[in-house]
Amino acid sequence: MELHELTITQVHEKLVNKEISATELVRAFLTRINEMDKEIAAFLSVFKDSAISQAKEIDNQISRGEKISMLAGIPLAVKDNILIEGEKCTAASKILENYIAPYDATCIKKLKKEGAIFLGKTNLDEFAMGSSTENSGFKTTHNPQDLSRVPGGSSGGSAAAVKANECIAALGSDTGGSIRQPASLCGTVGLKTTYGAVSRYGLIAFSSSVDQIGPLTKNIEDARIIFDIIKGKDSKDSTSVELKSQTSNLELRTVKIGVPKEYFTQGIDPKVERVIKEFIQKIEKEGVKVKEISLPHTKYALSCYCLIAASEASANLARYDGIRYGTSNTKHETSDLLDSYLKTRGQGFGDEVKRRIMLGTYALSSGYYDSYYLRAQKVRTLIRKDFEKAFQEVDVILTPTSPFTAFKIGERAKSALSMYLADIFTVSVNLAGLPALSMPCGEIQGLPVGLQIIGKSFREDEIFKIGSFFEKVINH
Ligand code: GLN
Repeated sequence: MELHELTITQVHEKLVNKEISATELVRAFLTRINEMDKEIAAFLSVFKDSAISQAKEIDNQISRGEKISMLAGIPLAVKDNILIEGEKCTAASKILENYIAPYDATCIKKLKKEGAIFLGKTNLDEFAMGSSTENSGFKTTHNPQDLSRVPGGSSGGSAAAVKANECIAALGSDTGGSIRQPASLCGTVGLKTTYGAVSRYGLIAFSSSVDQIGPLTKNIEDARIIFDIIKGKDSKDSTSVELKSQTSNLELRTVKIGVPKEYFTQGIDPKVERVIKEFIQKIEKEGVKVKEISLPHTKYALSCYCLIAASEASANLARYDGIRYGTSNTKHETSDLLDSYLKTRGQGFGDEVKRRIMLGTYALSSGYYDSYYLRAQKVRTLIRKDFEKAFQEVDVILTPTSPFTAFKIGERAKSALSMYLADIFTVSVNLAGLPALSMPCGEIQGLPVGLQIIGKSFREDEIFKIGSFFEKVINH
């Protein structure tokens, strides 16, 4: 096996046994990025020098005979909306083209403490708004499985980098599906963590009541390892909570799995439906109990999400005025302050970001607030209650992650609505604040199909347990 194909646990073993050095490993990844990224375009920046010097530090620790942690020397990639001190953080937006992060996001601080190595920052849809990475202000990332197709989004750069073995694992953010959907389209594992499980401090805010950071990895075990490090209460994010360390006592013979009927009616590609249903039959044959459940408000989830996410985005993005943050319009003459705002924002933001700011501002405006934003919040409660009710009967819920496999670059970019439909199976989870993981469970003509496992709040441990079992069934 080549170095860049290894998982976290495999690399750790080789480092500890001195079969490889961290420097050798990092160099192998930098070479790999050099070779692959011309075509894949997953990275917006690569930190060659700092990655090598971080690796040397780990090698010194090993040669001094010090015990190293599981993540020491592990080369990671980070979505470019998560702050790493002293490095550019653009959110793939022209408006933040030259923005240098003044501090580390909490998850980065925690990973640095473990000795993880950052190879660079990955591409995304501008401010994480999109499902294909085509909305990036800088470039379009290509799906490693088929270069004419999108990697999904918005964490498309992270998913593509993991799939193309340009890093061992990556961080992404998920507001409406942005970790799980690209994981599904590229064929990697992606975990959206419970709202509050991971600190959002240092994540560029899109929709603060739904945004979460999580890992994209080659397997379930690696996702668990990263989650265990980045989770937990942070005084800098008041919505974060301390997680008791939980060990799932779910038994595969007694676990109850729910499959919501509403997820097999709405515009799903029949081929994707077949792959998921065949997988469900397979686990039933292994003795797992599966029952049909209903999440009746599913049909309102996408509209509800669009209103809430756009409203919060319109408030969060107000700070990019060229004065406090970001590129200022200095090249062009501006007549007064308002003119300067208009020109800076007019030129700095892409079309999708502008569309959402306008929609969100409208939904929050006086006279419309009650009929749009407030109403969406009420629907959100109903969606959450659907899950609460379902979880009285079942332990985890299984659905497809995406209604279709990776689509062609350009195929959906012209119609915002057709792009939004990519998220119909992922947004409800964000609205309900639940954890969910996407894992590869088959292919259609070489294109990966993702299975979504939705768990109870703060029961990522149960998702990992079931997911590891599924991994065995799939690889069997
Ligand atoms: N694709 C969804 C959107 O455009 C979700 C994005 C995300 O999770 N960041 O809003």
